[in-house]
Amino acid sequence: MENFKPVTEYIKNLYDTREFIPLHVPKFRGKEKNYLERCIDTTFVSSVGKFVDQFEDQMVQITGTQKAVAVVNGTAGIQVALRLVGVKAGDEVLTQALTFVATANAIIYNHAHPVFLDVDLDTMGLSPKAVSAFLEDYGELRDDGCYNKKTGRKISACLPMHTFGFPVHLDELISVCKAWNIPIVEDAAESLGSEYKGKPTGSFGELGVFSFNGNKIVTSGGGGAIVSNSVSLAEKGKYLTTTAKQPHPYEYFHDELGYNYRMPNLNAALACAQLEQLDTFLAEKRNIAEIYADFFKTQSLNFRTELPNTKANYWLMCVELENKQDRDAFLKYTNSESVMTRPIWQLMFRLPMYEKFQKDNQKNAIFLEERIVNIPSSVR
Ligand SMILES: *Cc1c(COP(=O)(O)O)cnc(C)c1O
Repeated sequence: MENFKPVTEYIKNLYDTREFIPLHVPKFRGKEKNYLERCIDTTFVSSVGKFVDQFEDQMVQITGTQKAVAVVNGTAGIQVALRLVGVKAGDEVLTQALTFVATANAIIYNHAHPVFLDVDLDTMGLSPKAVSAFLEDYGELRDDGCYNKKTGRKISACLPMHTFGFPVHLDELISVCKAWNIPIVEDAAESLGSEYKGKPTGSFGELGVFSFNGNKIVTSGGGGAIVSNSVSLAEKGKYLTTTAKQPHPYEYFHDELGYNYRMPNLNAALACAQLEQLDTFLAEKRNIAEIYADFFKTQSLNFRTELPNTKANYWLMCVELENKQDRDAFLKYTNSESVMTRPIWQLMFRLPMYEKFQKDNQKNAIFLEERIVNIPSSVR
């Protein structure tokens, strides 16, 4: 255990404190208070207002997409994005078991079934090879899409997640999904500001979804955004998330089942001020990642850095321990020293509500589950 003392000492010096060091805390160094005050002065604090519009414009700019829809949180955004690409009750959605629970929950909210496929060791995200192998075994192309030969269910979407802001192998994944006629929704909740071959994550799938929860790289308190290069899909998303009401000066007419998944203007005001600082945060996190990378080399610990042709946002940084025993010792020591560290998620199929779903061998996911640990990653 003592051999992790240099690590805790280094992190305490890096963050210049002897107090508890959390994994990730928000920083409000921009126009947050100013925008919130302006928002209150307008009285438009709720579901419409100019900050919501401004936030959506900023997201279009940042992600290089055609349209963005502000929503109440990332989970709701994924739920609606899946519905938008045609996921219906009883369908299946291909995703990874190594993810935060919201990814899988959003599938169940559509009364669809997740199929858990393996991740790549290098990206920690959904493996195109695993998706391809699964489809070779179980996929059947019909006129109206891809079906699972084993269950007879339609496979109506693929939902990759860019773990901690490290992009998945998008070219390969897109090519497999295209061959099998399966639309992609990117769970880009963790990867705002990450890029794959010079293009922002979230802009590759039919739709991409971001989260602005308090622990993400920038925050609106709580919130999310759906982005798309299809204006019609995104407009449908806006419609569904704002109760599916037909525009009319005074009549209430809703022509299908919508949701109240709007982001309040008050939260959008916070998000606007935060997004203005995204580039600064990205640069500072990259700087911390470089410092960590140099340091962990001296400790013979594998600090995860971005892959060639990609840019990671370094939202949550992580190290890979030799084995589970070392990982447990690392977690125990660092946390006892007030340096917060946390293991990567338990695989979804270990959770009671996800035990029964189809999955592949999960070799890489299990390897990473036993070894990856997040370390303090806040901007300073
Ligand atoms: C944070 C997160 C979400 C959900 O975002 P909320 O805004 O908290 O609902 C979804 N997927 C992943 C992978 C996340 O990390």
